[in-house]
Amino acid sequence: MSELRELYQEVILDHNKNPRNFRKIEPCSHHANGHNPLCGDKLELFLNIVDDVIKDIAFVGSGCAISTSSASLMTQFLKGKSVAETRKYFDSFHDLVTGKTLNDRELEELGKLAIFAGVQEFPARVKCASLSWHTLINALNSADASAQTE
Ligand code: ZN
Repeated sequence: MSELRELYQEVILDHNKNPRNFRKIEPCSHHANGHNPLCGDKLELFLNIVDDVIKDIAFVGSGCAISTSSASLMTQFLKGKSVAETRKYFDSFHDLVTGKTLNDRELEELGKLAIFAGVQEFPARVKCASLSWHTLINALNSADASAQTE
């Protein structure tokens, strides 16, 4: 577990300092705003979905290291994935950060995202880590929506 914790800190620091896909996509096919009032995290998510595949995904916003790095890793992870796969990954990621047990296949599928298992120990941080994912689901469900973690 301590190895995972070190990796967790390393990856979060890296993606916070240098977030990937940190830009707007204009025009885009799907878009949503997310806000976590408990921490003050805000982000805006943009997607271009063609034939049910995420061709491009990016975000802008400001927040704590965990919310920024989670959004950064999520955009890297989801590019090229289908919408159906993405909804499945949302469920796995949600289970992961809320401390539910994932099977080996689910963990393997999440790849680098598995490091966010580290937030289980910090309940207030679960909302930071999952904000980008909740915003994503809202974007998929409607072309223009606002997500709240509450
Ligand atoms: Zn936060």
